[in-house]
Amino acid sequence: MKLKYLLILAAFINLIACKETEAKLNQSKLEVEVFKGKEASVNRYVFNNGKSIVIMDALRSSENASELAKFVENKKLPLTHILVTHGHPDHYIGMDILAQKFPEAKIVVAGKEIKDDIIGFSNWMESVGWLEGEPNLKPKSDKNPNGFDYEGKIQVLETNQLTLKGGGTLELEINYSAAEAEHLTSVYSKDLEALFTSDFCYNGVHLWLGQGVDQKNIDGWKNELNKLKAAYSNTNVTIYPGHGEKSTIDLIDINLKYISDFENTIKTSSSKEEAMDKMKKLYPNWEQAEFLLLNSVNYHMNLKENK
Ligand SMILES: [Zn+2]
Repeated sequence: MKLKYLLILAAFINLIACKETEAKLNQSKLEVEVFKGKEASVNRYVFNNGKSIVIMDALRSSENASELAKFVENKKLPLTHILVTHGHPDHYIGMDILAQKFPEAKIVVAGKEIKDDIIGFSNWMESVGWLEGEPNLKPKSDKNPNGFDYEGKIQVLETNQLTLKGGGTLELEINYSAAEAEHLTSVYSKDLEALFTSDFCYNGVHLWLGQGVDQKNIDGWKNELNKLKAAYSNTNVTIYPGHGEKSTIDLIDINLKYISDFENTIKTSSSKEEAMDKMKKLYPNWEQAEFLLLNSVNYHMNLKENK
């Protein structure tokens, strides 16, 4: 009799063990890979759970995006979403190529304001001739019937979560003050213990403080960085910036220091050349001095002169 009970118990334990293994097999592990764009030293993040792929941001040019498309094709998994974090062209120009290569993938944003920023920026770029090299990204209109249908192709997500097909959730946040852009999305993954700050943080790449980033934005930017620092200070979170290498929470202080160095430099310089020299001396190895820094210095020295 006793033996019979023992056998039943053993069979039961075995059944539970099998169920657990099955659960583990079904539970896909979320991974992230960085794809570094050549232009603007901008990062694309590729989330992969072994079943499907989500891309965060779409690179500065169609050429860079074609390389990203090959990278994704080699994974042999469906790309379900292309998430654009904000309305700056280094984060969305490549979306057309990706959408063409992966027609099943949805281009998504975390709020209508981000879609509006993208449309606004593209209309402006077209008006000043900046889209001549990327004609597919010209807004679709009677004049450009083959242009990009921003209204129809960009979908606004209904919740602040993006769950990958096969498991793993990305938490999206857009409730921030205007900063490097008017509206920005950050992405947090509990599985990865990682915060993808988009352009709230840069690492080893000069920050964009050019057109559109006036004093109100600078103050908002600093304020949000301080809030993020407080929110994640007692964690082991990995920070993945919009531009440059991943880092620890200390990257937030580095960005705060950069912004205050930039403000001091503008205040104490009497020419653009002087401001450029000072910033290059303070940040000798940071990338994109002749593009990002140059535009930032020109913009703020002009604001100062016209005060
Ligand atoms: Zn950027």
